[in-house]
Amino acid sequence: MPFSSLGLSPYVLPALQQGLQQAGYHEPTPVQQQAVPLSLQGRDLVVLAPTGSGKTAAYVLSILQQFFMAPARRPRVLEQLVLVPTRELALQVADVFTTLGRELARRPHVVCAVGGVSINPQMMALRGGADVVVATPGRLLDLLAHNALSLRQVRRLVLDEADRLLELGFGDELRQILAELPVQRQTLLFSATFPADIAALAAAGLRDPQHLHIGTQAPVEIEQRAFHVDSERRVALLLELLEEAQWPQLMVFVGSIRDGERLAVALRKADVHAQVLHGQLAQGRRVRLLQDFRDGELRVLVATDLAARGIDIARLPAVVNYDLPRSPADYLHRIGRTGRAGEKGQAVSFVDAASLAHWRLIGKRHRLEVALEQRPGFEPRQVAPPAVAADGNGGIKGRRPSRKDRLRAAAAAGKPAD
Ligand code: AMP
Repeated sequence: MPFSSLGLSPYVLPALQQGLQQAGYHEPTPVQQQAVPLSLQGRDLVVLAPTGSGKTAAYVLSILQQFFMAPARRPRVLEQLVLVPTRELALQVADVFTTLGRELARRPHVVCAVGGVSINPQMMALRGGADVVVATPGRLLDLLAHNALSLRQVRRLVLDEADRLLELGFGDELRQILAELPVQRQTLLFSATFPADIAALAAAGLRDPQHLHIGTQAPVEIEQRAFHVDSERRVALLLELLEEAQWPQLMVFVGSIRDGERLAVALRKADVHAQVLHGQLAQGRRVRLLQDFRDGELRVLVATDLAARGIDIARLPAVVNYDLPRSPADYLHRIGRTGRAGEKGQAVSFVDAASLAHWRLIGKRHRLEVALEQRPGFEPRQVAPPAVAADGNGGIKGRRPSRKDRLRAAAAAGKPAD
């Protein structure tokens, strides 16, 4: 199916096709085939599609068309709002607008509103209005408090990684933002996961939404493996796998900043160039680390779940779960950093005695058929603790809130965080 059959207007199609061509997109992916026509018709959508399947372009194309077909207005009127959970993802989405809209005779003024950097340049960029804002919720609320923009004329709201935005941690911020938006609007929700409780929440605010479920949960291109290994042997096993697989680059997910720093030190001692990406770094450092990784100047990016969602690293061959994610949904998001856009990828998880029950829970949630392997020389010696799984989740909560989540929840409840 060509891009010309998505229902895009003939006035905008040739320019968009040039942008698509330059991006190396020759035909629409399944999510684009299904979501673009419905989105152009103004339908509310809940789109469940695997990681790396081209969700961003699906909504960017609709937004570019709507912008282009509307009469030009000065000052500009903000009609399209995209919300995402992390700053990195916001910057990445703004880049897709630039790439795909490059050849349009009239291009939208896209403002990226993210925290961690001075608010002043963003306020300056909003002078004279914006056509599209791509934002993280906290900074958007700051800008609203400064009267730097109005959401009263937004016609289309996109929640990318919608289930994350609807979780408790962001819930209050999202409610405040929704209160500023017109009731009459189109709302599009995208994610690779919609846990049942969140799905109900999501559907509540939509008008007769069309639900699209596209493809398998995890891309078939990702080969998943799991090794049963004692926690103190994980560095040695990781080094052995790096040597054996000769991955030119690797993303390794850890459960805490401290574990990440320890691991990076151990890898550097073994002459593997590794750095840690986490939410306590200055924003400039976060951006630089990710850029170094994208440029291939860094072999191993050790990361917390900050990098689990949406981040697109072209041709990343493998992901390792050094620690398992607390949330089963994040398992799919983490491994989805590899195997993107139809490329092959490998995802390896380390499971120790303490996380055995949680691994089984993740497997059950996602109906995984991944054998737990024992690697010669790394046979586990630790014994699993007795099962405490009266709640059926192996004693590990689905998602323990991060510090930021706790602060947000406490702010929402009007009390200090613990
Ligand atoms: P996304 O799911 O939006 O993060 O996209 C995943 C990857 O697929 C990104 O690297 C995109 O550049 C790429 N991509 C998106 N649409 C297409 C397409 N139609 N053809 C080829 N690659 C695409």
